Parts: sequence; C-alpha cells; structure tokens
Amino acid sequence: PQSMSSTVIQKTIEQAYDKYRSVTEGKNANYIPYLAKADSKLYGIAIVTVDGRIFRVGDAGHPFPVESVSKIFTLADVLHKQGAQNILGKVGVNATGLPFNSVLAVELNNDKLGGSPPPGNPLVNAGAIATASLVQGKTLDMRWKSVLDTASAFAGHQLHLNDDVYQSEMASNQHNQAIAVLLQSYGHLYADPSETVDLYTRECSYDVDAVDLATMGATLANGGTNPRTHQTVVDAPTSARVLAVMATAGLYNTSGEWLFKVGLPGKSGVGGGIVAVVPGKLAIGVYSSRLDDAGNSVRGQLAVQFIAESLGANIFSAQ
Ligand code: GLN
Repeated sequence: PQSMSSTVIQKTIEQAYDKYRSVTEGKNANYIPYLAKADSKLYGIAIVTVDGRIFRVGDAGHPFPVESVSKIFTLADVLHKQGAQNILGKVGVNATGLPFNSVLAVELNNDKLGGSPPPGNPLVNAGAIATASLVQGKTLDMRWKSVLDTASAFAGHQLHLNDDVYQSEMASNQHNQAIAVLLQSYGHLYADPSETVDLYTRECSYDVDAVDLATMGATLANGGTNPRTHQTVVDAPTSARVLAVMATAGLYNTSGEWLFKVGLPGKSGVGGGIVAVVPGKLAIGVYSSRLDDAGNSVRGQLAVQFIAESLGANIFSAQ
C-alpha cells in the first residue's frame, strides 16, 4: 500500500497544534502533588509511522509522567509472556464504563464474588493492579525491570523512573492500596498487595515524551515490532489484543464517546499524555496536562480527533 505523504502528515499535526494552542479548558490532575504543578502551557504532538518516519510539533520532546498510558505496555508484557487466557480468566476484558479509579470496578457482578472470570479491565486501576500482580519475577525489583524493559523496547530506548513522581504518588496512593486489598479479598490479586501497588506506582512514574508515546503506539500499529529499532517487542496477536482492550476502556468512562467520535483505539494518562493507534499505519502521541473530568487531556483529545478526521483514519470508516 502507498504510504501517506510526509508533507500531508507534517501539515496536519501543525494545523492541529495551531488550532488548539490557545485552549485552556480543563485542569491539571490535582490528587498527585507532582502533577498539579506541571506547566499547563506545554503542548506537543508527534506521529510515528509503521515505516519509521517521525513527525513532531511543539513540545513533543518534553518529558512527563506516563501514568495510565503505561497500563497498555504492562498488559502487553503479561499477555505476551503468559498468554491471553491468563488475562481473560484472571483480570477480565469487558468495558467497565467506570472512572479509572473506581472501586465499583472490583464489585461488578458481585453475585459472583470471588468467582471467575473477574469483572475487571486491565486499563482501569483495579484491573491494572491485578495485571501488575501477574508480572513474573522473583523480587519486586526484577518484576519492575521486566515492566520497564518492555516499555523501553516499545519506545526504542531506555526509559527511566522519575523519582519525584514516584515519591509523590507513593505518599498519596491510599486509594490504590485499598483497591489492591479489596481485590485480594475476592481472590483477584495474585501477589502481595503492597508490593503490587509499589510496582503499579512505579509503572505510572516513568517519564516519556510525545515522540515516545507515538513510537510505542506505532509498535502496536505495526503488529508488535518497533518500526524504528525493528525489534519484535510482542507478537502480532498480543498487539491486536492490546488494541482491542484499548477500544473498550482506554479513556475510562468516556471510552464509548471517544470511539464514537474518533474511531481509534486510544489510551490516556492523568500526566496529560494520550496515544491513539491507526492499525497498520501510524500512531499519534500528544502531551498537554489539562484534563477533563474523566482524567483525559483536553487538547490531546481535540488534536487526535482533528488529525484522525483530516487523515481519514477512523477504523470503522469504509474508505
Ligand atoms: N497513577 C495514577 C493513579 O493510579 C494513574 C491514573 C491515570 O493516569 N488515570 O491514580
């Protein structure tokens, strides 16, 4: 297939940048002190194609905490190393329709408490914490290395924990600790709760920039092989399954609205990052810290929607 013209792609992201540059709606995440003080003027967009081209505009090289976008790469790691059945049977993959931090996500189908399959989704906190508890490794540090190595392979270079973010979250993650213990009480957590929350908090605390997000997404667009380094990070079935789960819950309780408007699997994080994937073609990464009520970057969503429309990228569209 003929690849999309570089001139068109660059022009489109520049238009998206100019169009929403002055939007000031939304607020930084305020429940994690580090994120509250992010510079909300920063705004960057990047696209990486499956043939390895990189496009960028604005603050696309500015690092920010990955937060919930990391959930897709930890899911990919567990799916790839342990198979689909483990996630299907031990976490679940149905849309929850609930906010990211919902405790109700643990309680759905509560007539079947402790039963199987559990009601979770790996892209909301409860299911992401359950997924983190499945990561294999003898010690917490070895499990963390597995998670970070996979994320780094997706990005094509070594990523690093931002220790200030990690400390800030560890001091304020009581809600996630409660979710972990609740999961444990129903037999839906598969490792020690405090170690699992620690691992989950680390996975939220590594830094990325918009180019990293676009590269990581392009690896999924490319069936699990990084189009820059040519490393096969996960197999093609794993990659397709991650994209499917992104469509169910990538933007939490507004995932349906997102899919309806944009027609692309996406994943957001309260750090202000968002990634959207056009399977077989490219991925878009955006950074802007102001969030809507669901915890999704306001300008990130606007930019992706504009770009998807301009490039005719909706996966449900016939042409
Ligand atoms: N670390 C954050 C939390 O668990 C991530 C949430 C998010 O990005 N939606 O609360």
